[in-house]
Amino acid sequence: MAFEQQLRVPGPTPIPERVMRSAARPMINHRGPDAAVIIRDLVDGLRWGLQTENDILLFPASGTGGLEAAVANLFSPGEAGLFCSIGSFGDRWADIAAAYGVEAVRLEIPWGEALDPEDVDRVLAEHPAIEKVCVTHNETSTGVVNDMRSIAAVVKGRGKLLAVDSVSGAGVMPLPVDELGLDVVVTASQKGWMAPPGLAMIAVSPAAYRAAAAARCPSFYFDFARQKGFIDQGTTFTTPPLGVMYALQEGLAMLREEGLENVFARHQRVADMIRAGLVAIGLRLLAPEAHRSNAVTAVHSPASSPEQLKAFLAALRTRHGLVLAGGQGQLAGRVFRVGHLGFIEERDAYSILATIEQGLADHGLLSRVGLTVAAAQRVARGTQAAPEPAGAGR
Ligand SMILES: *Cc1c(COP(=O)(O)O)cnc(C)c1O
Repeated sequence: MAFEQQLRVPGPTPIPERVMRSAARPMINHRGPDAAVIIRDLVDGLRWGLQTENDILLFPASGTGGLEAAVANLFSPGEAGLFCSIGSFGDRWADIAAAYGVEAVRLEIPWGEALDPEDVDRVLAEHPAIEKVCVTHNETSTGVVNDMRSIAAVVKGRGKLLAVDSVSGAGVMPLPVDELGLDVVVTASQKGWMAPPGLAMIAVSPAAYRAAAAARCPSFYFDFARQKGFIDQGTTFTTPPLGVMYALQEGLAMLREEGLENVFARHQRVADMIRAGLVAIGLRLLAPEAHRSNAVTAVHSPASSPEQLKAFLAALRTRHGLVLAGGQGQLAGRVFRVGHLGFIEERDAYSILATIEQGLADHGLLSRVGLTVAAAQRVARGTQAAPEPAGAGR
């Protein structure tokens, strides 16, 4: 029995001690000056992380609430919108739109592949009435990251509004919101931001507000314009999850101390280490090389059946304390997923890899251990500054 679990699902993610202590602070009046200071700090920090001057709206909700907010504010019933899906979360966004009576035109890509910007361009040419496009940045169900730069170039090039689900990508991989011209970007506290679940954070452009003013889908709780009025006054429409906000404030402070480029580089390095380690023992990754996510890796099941995969994951958890995720939807029983976003560094990569190896060996799925760590070490060495110039005579 492990004393403490090592939580490596792609959200919720582990939170640092500093963040945990921060979350335990006493409650305050959410209409008072102390709350205003926190809200302004969160807005500043998220603007920094998302590289945007746009408004940041905070809603008490999980990430799905943020996706629903985007639909409710941007669309009218009967309006056609393009929903690009490369997996389970992309499907969910289109399903939300359908529930609001929006005519969701679905561009569906086989799970495990990335969106081709040319396909987006073609569908937009075929449907000139479409004014708004919704795209998943990082598809957590498949470990595939879309190339938002080329997709934004197509969508913005046609003068359309672009809404992005970056619930699991933001704060992990670069997403320069203003540079790419993204109109709505949804993220959530429990993924890359090192905080508990409970807060949806949405970056909203002036063009998105204009679209919202004209849109007729019903919205109340998630109304952008009203929440903007409250956030601008340093409060929120309803009671916010103060504990989550304390935590997010501290998580953002830690990320800012580290520096944005360093945050992205750390995720790149850790993801590269984990991928190299898994590949070194013959495991196959679902995502194509050019689109592998630095937030989560989906791995084809090494087991002979879904039941054996389930037993393997259960043993990792109960015997070794390592909690990984299974597959979602059509990938259930066929892949497992390693979350490597948020509070993670090199030592965690070694520990995750060695534990996976041990678990595979326990199940007779691997005969020799040690290869993953060696492969990860080569990656880590290759990306660190060399301790001394090559050939310096040792
Ligand atoms: C986690 C996640 C969501 C939202 O999930 P919630 O459980 O509602 O927080 C949405 N999209 C993506 C890509 C995600 O990873």
